[in-house]
Amino acid sequence: MEFKKNQEIELTIDDLGNNGEGIGHVDGYALFVKDALPGERIRAKIMKCKKNYGFARLMEILPEAGDGSTAGDGCGEATTSAGCAASDVGRVEPKCPVARQCGGCTLQHLSYEKQLAFKEKKVRDCLERIGEVDMSQVEWLPILGMTEDAEPWHYRNKAQFPVRMQKDETGTMHPVTGFFAGRTHSVIPVTDCGIQDKCMKEILELVLTWMEEQNIPAYDEEKHRGVVRHIFIRRGYHTGEIMVCLVVNAKGLKGNSGEALVKKLAAVPGMTSISLNVNMEKTNVILGSQMVWLWGKSYIEDSIGDIRYRISPQSFYQVNPVQTEKLYRTALEFADLSGDEVVWDLYCGIGTISLFLARQAKKVYGVEIVPEAIENAKENARLNGIENAEFACGPAEEVVPRMVGENGVGSGGAGANSENLAKADVVVVDPPRKGCDAVLLDTIEKMAPKRVVYVSCDPATLARDVKVLGEKGYQVEKVRACDMFPHGGHVETIVGLQKQDM
Ligand code: SAH
Repeated sequence: MEFKKNQEIELTIDDLGNNGEGIGHVDGYALFVKDALPGERIRAKIMKCKKNYGFARLMEILPEAGDGSTAGDGCGEATTSAGCAASDVGRVEPKCPVARQCGGCTLQHLSYEKQLAFKEKKVRDCLERIGEVDMSQVEWLPILGMTEDAEPWHYRNKAQFPVRMQKDETGTMHPVTGFFAGRTHSVIPVTDCGIQDKCMKEILELVLTWMEEQNIPAYDEEKHRGVVRHIFIRRGYHTGEIMVCLVVNAKGLKGNSGEALVKKLAAVPGMTSISLNVNMEKTNVILGSQMVWLWGKSYIEDSIGDIRYRISPQSFYQVNPVQTEKLYRTALEFADLSGDEVVWDLYCGIGTISLFLARQAKKVYGVEIVPEAIENAKENARLNGIENAEFACGPAEEVVPRMVGENGVGSGGAGANSENLAKADVVVVDPPRKGCDAVLLDTIEKMAPKRVVYVSCDPATLARDVKVLGEKGYQVEKVRACDMFPHGGHVETIVGLQKQDM
């Protein structure tokens, strides 16, 4: 069958894609339909056709096949409202009024329980299909969801809100902030986001008022003019400390508008750090390299478990504090430390996992590419009185092989008198989405730790790397997924691998 743009077709959705979009098939041709759910029979309009797959827009959810109901019972309009389709697909009314336009949450229309089931299945499918893992040999622990201890709402401790000028009903331009509509750069004005920390609304509104009062324009991407590009906010979940950083297309703020901003923001309870980040490039990258400190400290602090962390605007810090603690505890559990181990934490960020492990290890080495994060990691070790953690800056695939090469490998590698830097009993990796570099996996093999704990934010690259580690003699023993991003499509996974005697 030939498909063309704007054609309307009926199909049944049978799966969810990586971004939470429904996937259905017509004559073997896959169609991605945002907002549609597995089990639903729908009418969709084709928007874009590629050779083997296409994208379609959800027009109508049709009555369940064979249930005898007709479109005349109120389900006939172009709607995604619940009630018409099979009840067990898990469709719920999204909490956010702008959920369908906003590019942020992709799964708000699916019940939280079903979201967790979908994520768990995604991890399992990847490990089986791409990783070729024999699941009968694996201890599969249930996904860690946000169920018992906290609501899966307002969980995000960090946001970067784009700011743009937009016309109101009278045609007057005003600065607005919110979120980019899916796949576009037009801003949907919302300050009251369902997944962001509740402190953010007030701060966003204060910044917008300040812009109006001081006549400071928002950035215009096309003309590369205007000032405020993004409002970056981070809040320490346990400390309540707040950091606000305005990303500006300027070297500083004119006149005394900086003081006016500080006056407004410093009054917000918990405000700890106010700054500017200079970004004058034509780029989609949010932060530039130069900071201008306006008020307070250059960092905020937060804690995970009993470890306190210092976080600067540039550093990576997990966005869901409640789930992060569960993730790290699981990594610690899978590392199974007795206190005598030398542990490597690769892609360590500000040393979050390293310090979590240090209390139960002999020595921890952390490696990370961002210099500011490594500075934070060192400070964090000092702050917590941890003396058995060391940090090195650079790409893990270069730094680790060099350290291993200089110091010998394996548990007894180095000379009797030199400290055996390359000794590794346990290696923890927590790479970005693209996964581990192949050179690093080769190096891990040379280091020959007894266990590898792989923390991953992308099940597909995790599975690819797990397969490589399998060929190097590491077998998957335990798997646990963790839902760091309720209502979004992504899932975090912790895998415990054990070295087999070959
Ligand atoms: N374990 C940390 C950070 C995980 S995010 C935490 O839980 O907070 C992944 C980290 O890998 C980021 O801090 C990123 O800066 C870092 N990174 C990316 N590429 C890298 C590379 N090639 N070598 C070392 N670190 C890298």
